[in-house]
Amino acid sequence: MAGNNTKILKQANTYLVLNSIISAESITIEDVVKKTKLSRPTIVNIVKELTEKNIVFKSGYAEYTGGRLPTLLSLNANSYYTIGIDFEFPPIRMAISNLKGEVVHKRGITVERHFSRNQIIELMFQELDGMIAESGIAKEQFIGIGIGMLGYLKANQGISVEIIRIPDWKDVDFKQLIKERFGLPVYVQNDIHMMALAEKRLFLPDLEEDFAYVGIRPGIRSGIGLAMQINGSFYGGVNGNAHLLGHMTIDVNGEPCTCGSRGCLELIAGEPNVIKRYKALIGDGEDLEHIRGIRDIYARSLAGEQTATDVLDEVGNYMGIGIANVVKLFGLTTVVIGGPDSELYTNLIRDHLKKNIFKHMSGEMNLIVGRLEQDLYPLGSCFLVIDQFFKEPTLNL
Ligand SMILES: [Zn+2]
Repeated sequence: MAGNNTKILKQANTYLVLNSIISAESITIEDVVKKTKLSRPTIVNIVKELTEKNIVFKSGYAEYTGGRLPTLLSLNANSYYTIGIDFEFPPIRMAISNLKGEVVHKRGITVERHFSRNQIIELMFQELDGMIAESGIAKEQFIGIGIGMLGYLKANQGISVEIIRIPDWKDVDFKQLIKERFGLPVYVQNDIHMMALAEKRLFLPDLEEDFAYVGIRPGIRSGIGLAMQINGSFYGGVNGNAHLLGHMTIDVNGEPCTCGSRGCLELIAGEPNVIKRYKALIGDGEDLEHIRGIRDIYARSLAGEQTATDVLDEVGNYMGIGIANVVKLFGLTTVVIGGPDSELYTNLIRDHLKKNIFKHMSGEMNLIVGRLEQDLYPLGSCFLVIDQFFKEPTLNL
C-alpha cells in the first residue's frame, strides 16, 4: 500500500514537472520549482529520468544572471509518436503525430461500400502497416493508436458495437485486435468528438467557456454529430455515445430512422436526403446527375433558383431548431460548426438558430465557422493518445 502511494506520488510529481516544461516551450529548473512548488532535488531526479527516457532534453542556457548558467529544458516532441485514425465510412484517414500534435505523416483509404467487417479491418491494418513503414519511425517509439469511430461504442472497452451501414459490423474489439497486431494500446472515441478536439487544440486554444461543436459529415454517411466542452474538457457520456445530434427527433410524425426512432434531424438535414428532396421537387424535366452535394444546390440558390433556396432554408431551419435545443439545454453562447462545408452550413443555420433561442442568448451568440481540414481529422485521435500519455495520475485511496 505504502509502495503504491509512493509510486502514485511520483507519477503526480512527474506530471507536474512535465506539464510545466510542455507549457513553457523551454524552462529552467528554478522556474519549474516556482511553478510546481516541489523541492529542487525532487525535480532534478524527475528531470534526470525524463532525460534518460529522451522525453526531455537540454535545449540551451537561460540568460546569465550570475553564478552558473541555468540550463533550459524542453520537451523532445519527436521522442515518441502517436497514430490517429478518423474512421468515417467509406473514407478512413490516418496520421502520425509527434508529442506536440504535429503531423509527420498521413494517409487515407476509401473502402468499398460492399466490403465486409473483416475486409475493412484488414485493409485498415495493412494501410497502418504501410504508413508506419513509410514513416521510418521505430515501433518502440509509438505510444498508442487513437480511433475516432462512427456508430455506437463501448468506448471504455475499446469496442465498436455497431455501424448500421456495415451489416456485419458487430462488437469489433479494437483493444484486442490492435494489441494482437501492433502491440499498442488503443483508445476509441466518437469521431465527431475527435474532430472537435483537433479543432479546439489547433484553432481555438483560448476558448475556455463551455461550447458545442456541431460536426457535419457529407456524402453517404451524412453524419450530423455534436461534441461539447463542459468545464474545460469534452464530455463523452456513458461509453462515449453522448450528443448524437443527428438522431435528435425533430419531427414527431416523421419518417422512421435506422436508429429505431422517427423524424431524426439527419433524415431531414443529412446530405443524401436533401439531394433526394431537391431532385423530387425539380422533377424529371431536368438532368440532375451533376447535383452530387449540398454545395451544388447552394450554387443554384446563389444563382437565384427559388427551389434550391427553399430546400436549403428548410435544412437551415431544422438544423437551427436542433442546435437551439442544445443551446437552451446547456445555456451556451458559443457554437462551432465543423465539417468540410462548415461555412455553407453556418450561413444556412445562423438566422434560424438565433430566432429559436431567447433574445438575450441570441445577442450573445458567437457562431464560429470550423477551420479543421479533412486530412487533419485524425489528429483529434492523436491528441487523445497524447493526453493519455501525459495524463494526471488519479489517486485511488
Ligand atoms: Zn435516428
